[in-house]
Amino acid sequence: MGAALEIRNLHASVEDNLILRGVNLTIKQGEVHALMGPNGSGKSTLANVLLGHPAYVVTGGQVIFDGVDMLELEPNERSRAGLFLAFQYPVVIPGVTLANFLRQAINARMKADDPESKGIPIPQFRRMMMEKMDNLQMDHSFAGRYLNEGFSGGEKKRAEILQMAVLNPKISILDETDSGLDIDALRVVAEGVAKLKGPDLGVLVITHYQRILNYITPDFVHVMFEGRIVESGGADLALRLEETGYDWVREKYSTSAVE
Ligand code: ADP
Ligand code: MG
Repeated sequence: MGAALEIRNLHASVEDNLILRGVNLTIKQGEVHALMGPNGSGKSTLANVLLGHPAYVVTGGQVIFDGVDMLELEPNERSRAGLFLAFQYPVVIPGVTLANFLRQAINARMKADDPESKGIPIPQFRRMMMEKMDNLQMDHSFAGRYLNEGFSGGEKKRAEILQMAVLNPKISILDETDSGLDIDALRVVAEGVAKLKGPDLGVLVITHYQRILNYITPDFVHVMFEGRIVESGGADLALRLEETGYDWVREKYSTSAVE
């Protein structure tokens, strides 16, 4: 049976501001969920909290993955447990090539599983990386470039999905992987994710817009507003939001007093 990421009544704050106000969501391996919502509703906060970003303080609720309390684990341990986050704003790491970064990530994981491990042999690593780069239509020269330095928006997002392909997570959280991409880059990135989809991978696609969902059809769509999931439905909910925008969500759920 596949593993499930269970988020229960999650509350979290940033710099003493309560942002997440009771999030409930369960994502199983093999399922694709879309998390939509207006800017500032807490989508990225949820992603960051799930992976253990130190700036975010959990003030209530639970995150259980495969029966294990994730909130007790360090970010690297959560990653090893099978969670992956593709960042909305990937970091630049000058001096570290993409290939080295990926190989270190694999080796760290192998050593954590088996302290005697010598890591992945370089020829085997290169073959695997090239194959996955081809899937994402990435030029092989990228392997030798410093991570994200001078990468275009589309190249950064491809590099994130390449990391995901190499790390082989059970649950992937893609935070606005579509933002800042032109339509061709969006298609390549989204199709790259769609290729990785399968019974062993659960995906949470965080997005403001419906268009990436044309390539990765969601089984479930959720709308976040003011730190809670206020609506859930099928793929049709995303299409409805595309037509109507988020005004009706604001009107229906806004808790701030309007005079
Ligand atoms: P979304 O991803 O849905 O656009 P975010 O989770 O980024 O929303 O932001 C939700 C709220 O939390 C916003 O009001 C934002 O200003 C605030 N916030 C998020 N991260 C931080 C941070 N690191 N420091 C201060 N405020 C933050
Ligand atoms: Mg965001």
